[in-house]
Amino acid sequence: MLQRIPDRVDPWRLAEQGETLEGRLKLDSLPRLAPLLANANGEAAFVLTFGKDERRRLLIMLNVDADLTLECQRCLSDMVLKIESKTCLTPVRGLLEAEQLPEALDPLMIEEGEYLDIAQLIEDELMLGIPSSPRHEEQHCNRQEGVQEHDLPETEPKEENPFAILASLRTDRNDN
Ligand SMILES: [Zn+2]
Repeated sequence: MLQRIPDRVDPWRLAEQGETLEGRLKLDSLPRLAPLLANANGEAAFVLTFGKDERRRLLIMLNVDADLTLECQRCLSDMVLKIESKTCLTPVRGLLEAEQLPEALDPLMIEEGEYLDIAQLIEDELMLGIPSSPRHEEQHCNRQEGVQEHDLPETEPKEENPFAILASLRTDRNDN
């Protein structure tokens, strides 16, 4: 059942074989994600399935599940953000190509023949799932009374981060 998953894989070769990789990653092993967490204990579970569509385009189906402990930006205590992400990624060579993708597909910046760094892919996916200002739902927040609503801007200023472009290219799949 347990497979040894290499850090980097050749997605085109795995697609020819219709391979599925399943594994877990420790959250504290992800150097960009860990500092964003109030507590980096725990793991992310992932399933990666490689294949091709009728146009022989490489498809990478990625499922990532993780419970991320973040600091609520309203009451400053811990909150758990449940990530259950399902994406279907396909390689693109640039932004233009990314914009032309059908809605069901999300862009992955990878060159033909380039290896895929699994941890980096999963880390990107988890980071895309974190809102810019995470908060408890109102009824679960420790700071319900006496909150000066005008202290909390309705819209957060858009943060400059390397994922902003990638995130903006993504189709809106907030179906929960
Ligand atoms: Zn809160």
